[in-house]
Amino acid sequence: MNRVDPLTVMAPLTNALIPVAATPQVGVCGLCRTGVAPDFTRCHSCHEAASLDPPGILPITLSVGGGLIHQHLWQYKNHDREEVRERTGTLLAALTAVFLNHHAECIGEWDYCTTVPSVRRIAMEPIVRRVQRLRDNYKPVLRARDGDGARVLNPEQFDVTDVEAGDRVLLLDDTFTTGAKMFSAVAAIRSRGGVVVGPVVIGRHIQRQWPPSSQLLEWLEQRTWNVDRCARCAGELRSGTMFGK
Ligand SMILES: [Zn+2]
Ligand SMILES: [Zn+2]
Repeated sequence: MNRVDPLTVMAPLTNALIPVAATPQVGVCGLCRTGVAPDFTRCHSCHEAASLDPPGILPITLSVGGGLIHQHLWQYKNHDREEVRERTGTLLAALTAVFLNHHAECIGEWDYCTTVPSVRRIAMEPIVRRVQRLRDNYKPVLRARDGDGARVLNPEQFDVTDVEAGDRVLLLDDTFTTGAKMFSAVAAIRSRGGVVVGPVVIGRHIQRQWPPSSQLLEWLEQRTWNVDRCARCAGELRSGTMFGK
C-alpha cells in the first residue's frame, strides 16, 4: 500500500470532490468557506467564534449533505462492515496524503499533528494511521471530557496534555460542521501556548437546502477539483464582478 501512488488510490473520489472558494469574496465565509448571505463575511458558527480570532479553516473539499464524500466520511468510522470502513478509510487517507503533499507550503510548518477527539473515540485515527507523514508525527494532545459542552465553543471540553509554549500543532478533523469542536480545540491548544497550524479538515459540510450554500454550489459544482489548487493558494473565484450577482 505504501508504494502505491495516493493519487491513483484516491481516483474513485475525484469526481465527487468540490473545490473550495477563495476568500475574501462575496457569498463566502471568510473563515470556513461555506456559503453566506451577500451582506455577511462570516457564517453563524464563525461569527460565534469571533472573540477567539481563530485561523482560517483549510478544507480539502466541500462535503454536501447526502453526497458521496459525506457518505464516505460517515462510513469510514461507522459502517458495520469492516471491508467498507477499510475501503472508504483508504480512499480518504489517500486524498489527505495527496493534499498534504501538494500543499505543504499552504499549510505551513508544524512540529506534530493532532486530531479533534470526541468523548467516544478519536475519529480520524484510522486516517492518520494510513498517512505516513501524519503517523510519524502524531501526538494526541487533546482528550474530550465527559459533559455536555461539546456543541458550544468551550475550550474546557478538552484536556490538553503535552503541549509546550511555541509548539506548532497541525490540527486535523474529518468534518467541519458547526465548528464548535474545532474552535474549542484551537482555544484549548492556545491556552497552553501552542500555535495552531492548518486547521485542515477533509470536508466542510454544507446543506444544499440552505440558500447561501446552494448559491455557492451553483458555481462551484461547475468547476473541477484540482490537486494543485487549495483554498489558500488558488481558491475558486466566482467569475465576473466580485460584488453583486
Ligand atoms: Zn464559517
Ligand atoms: Zn495550496
